[in-house]
Amino acid sequence: MDKYCGTISDVGTDLTPLDRIRGCLLGGAVGDAIGAAVEFASWSEICAAHGDAGITGMEPSYGRRGAITDDTQMTMFTVEGLIRAAVRLHHTGITTVTGVVWHAYQRWLVTQGEEQAGGWEGEKVDGWLADVTGLHERRAPGDTCLAALTSGLMGAPDIPINDSKGCGGVMRVAPVGLIATPDVAFAHGIDVAAITHGHPGGYLPAGVLAAMVASIMHGASITDAVTDATPLLRSHRDHEDVLRLLDGGRRLGTAATLNAPTIERIGGGWTGDEALAIAVACAIGADDFRHGVLAAANHSGDSDSTAAICGNLLGALWGVDAIPREWLAELELRDEIDTLAHDLHHQFHAADKAVTTASWFMRYPGW
Ligand SMILES: [Mg+2]
Repeated sequence: MDKYCGTISDVGTDLTPLDRIRGCLLGGAVGDAIGAAVEFASWSEICAAHGDAGITGMEPSYGRRGAITDDTQMTMFTVEGLIRAAVRLHHTGITTVTGVVWHAYQRWLVTQGEEQAGGWEGEKVDGWLADVTGLHERRAPGDTCLAALTSGLMGAPDIPINDSKGCGGVMRVAPVGLIATPDVAFAHGIDVAAITHGHPGGYLPAGVLAAMVASIMHGASITDAVTDATPLLRSHRDHEDVLRLLDGGRRLGTAATLNAPTIERIGGGWTGDEALAIAVACAIGADDFRHGVLAAANHSGDSDSTAAICGNLLGALWGVDAIPREWLAELELRDEIDTLAHDLHHQFHAADKAVTTASWFMRYPGW
């Protein structure tokens, strides 16, 4: 996997790659947990429940404060799949990122109480992640993801499995940007999303998000990352609607005050292109991590996904220390998410990228 993993160097900042990786993964999870409490509420309902400023921090959802949802669960399995794809490359000399990540999503499927499909029927799940008890919870998983994965078929951009443009593709792919250059991250991002989402509005935003995270890892601002990703998006057929919404998000973040009425001009974020645009608007317009993520949660749409994506972007941009400590303190599975961040860093960015120990293979079997 070294052949496509770019060298990350810090440009004009004291942030290390590990700071950004932890920020991206924990920041996304924090956004997911904050948005979870208002995911299915309109803006007027949010105000009625939380006051005129809307939600201002962690509130109970799924029976506890700080609960993550399917967005973070699947993001965690994306990380696991990327690491296992690299382990496979090391041990066999050949790998397939999409295929190994698809296998990781099959393990997520088991955590949701379903059987594995796609040739893994009846197989025991391995690795450490699927044994995490706290992941065996249904947190409003997307119907598209469940149906696509249980079908046993792996979608691809040229072999669409359905016509879904839901945001379930983009919400889980930020980790792809943590291990690759922007152009490679774009390609893997669309492939990983197209496993379950066959409409360009479902998988192209995932390519853009992965490319943006990769640019940010290399020192870009949010707006520069949009600029870097735009020609990659333009190079793909059927990009017009995604590009129009992305441009709208950039303009909104630059020009407008972030509040529910302005954000809702983009849409509800239930589709991938809208979710990305809302997250980009809030990340560009953010004064700090707290401001951006709360803006991304406080609207009538898919608050957990838009706030998760915004948290991915701002966490990568400003690093883990930018995340309010009181939010991290209450975050469900914080230690497990942080372990994945450290392990991804170890696999892809440590001095000895080729991890060869038997214990590592037990944690991340190469298939
Ligand atoms: Mg969710």
